[in-house]
Amino acid sequence: MNITMIGTGYVGLVSGSGLADFGMTVICVDKDRERIEKLRKGEISFYEPGLEELVQRNVKNGRLSFDSNLKTAVDRSLVIFVAVGTPDNGQGQTDLSQVEEVAQSLGEIIDDYKILVIKSTVPVGTNNWFKKIVQKKLKKEINIDIVSNPEFLREGSAIEDFMRPDRVVIGADSTRALAIMKDIYRSLYLIETPFVFTNLETAELIKYASNAFLATKISFINEVANICEKVGADVHQVAKAMGLDKRIGSKFLHPGPGFGGSCFPKDTHAFAYLGKKLGSPVSIVESVIKVNQNQRRVMVEKIEKAVGSVEGKMIGILGLTFKPNTSDVRESSAIDIILALLQKGAKVKAYDPAGMDEFKKAVHSINLTYERDAYSVVKGVDGLVILTEWNEFRNLDLKEVKKLMAQPLIVDLRNIYEPERMSELGYHYIGVGRGVTPA
Ligand code: NAD
Repeated sequence: MNITMIGTGYVGLVSGSGLADFGMTVICVDKDRERIEKLRKGEISFYEPGLEELVQRNVKNGRLSFDSNLKTAVDRSLVIFVAVGTPDNGQGQTDLSQVEEVAQSLGEIIDDYKILVIKSTVPVGTNNWFKKIVQKKLKKEINIDIVSNPEFLREGSAIEDFMRPDRVVIGADSTRALAIMKDIYRSLYLIETPFVFTNLETAELIKYASNAFLATKISFINEVANICEKVGADVHQVAKAMGLDKRIGSKFLHPGPGFGGSCFPKDTHAFAYLGKKLGSPVSIVESVIKVNQNQRRVMVEKIEKAVGSVEGKMIGILGLTFKPNTSDVRESSAIDIILALLQKGAKVKAYDPAGMDEFKKAVHSINLTYERDAYSVVKGVDGLVILTEWNEFRNLDLKEVKKLMAQPLIVDLRNIYEPERMSELGYHYIGVGRGVTPA
């Protein structure tokens, strides 16, 4: 089966190479020619564990190739997946310009039966809208089918998520398209992955409802953590005991600086917007967004309380990406927190194992410098802030770190260390929701 994958970002490249691994012949297309040229040389523009090997393996076995010419790819394919970006337009609505551009191009190119599969996260109704745009552009009457196949992979574990998903959602209104989709995902049938077959609107909504629910868990535990600090309780024990209740589950109950990344912030906004537009507000999700924004302010206050006024102080930052094992800094809490510290007159030294190049594009200041490793960051700082829970930060030589710091103060916004051990080592250590707020 020949497939075109449009968009070679996190979702497109992982899905494209994953489908090639399932035995399909996949041509990945991107309008970013530089990206395609790099991919042809085996270079990937972002960091995702295991992706380079997966891409190389499938290029070598002849099932994966890259092209910037959409027509060549589409002419050879029965199924066209769309995995382009759907960012926030700045007002909480989804910017569908990339999706629309693809629809217009496909309308001009398609000249026989195709199945168009939308993998991008798109508001309810977009699949039908997409099909209409394509149909309007077609030069003659051609039968096309549209399928909604939202993607649930997480950056940092994207390959495992794609290869062994919790479920696959397929929204379609054509039996022919459905049969072909089942064929594409046959490998997942064999490992008994649950499939949800439904209509287009339900599939579109499943993605938003799922992300909004996960974001709700995060905002919820962050508010619990803030209460813990006021009453001397430990949020880790609260979360653990809550999670032991199977109706609640233990995942996504980790307190921290709030959710970021390319999905939760924009998808919660888009879901809240949809509710408002339909006259059925999703007030819970509206609150989740507010709590998340507030959590970043709470974290800056926490740092200020610990360090004293940050003006003129040197603050070390470990972690810039929105989560570990990715180079993605989109909507990372590090952006807001570092900007606030800089604005309050602090000087900041930062290190991240994979996200520094991307962060440099997002934040510019002469008072922000980048270091080659964690030990260079801690040298002479008045306080150290942990912003992303990369494994390498869990294993630092904390005795050495303490010697290097001007003040042995750590504000750990990801709770990667144990408070007792840190105080034994002589640190002034502050986590999130771990009993005591700094006086
Ligand atoms: P991305 O921004 O990393 O990649 C999008 C790619 O599409 C870019 O390479 C861009 O050049 C390309 N593109 C844009 N317009 C194009 C066009 N007209 N023709 C060809 N290529 C074009 O985006 P992403 O993070 O991979 O996300 C893609 C979609 O998947 C979004 O809707 C997102 O919400 C959804 N999603 C993302 C994740 C995630 O973790 N990143 C997870 C699940 C779902």
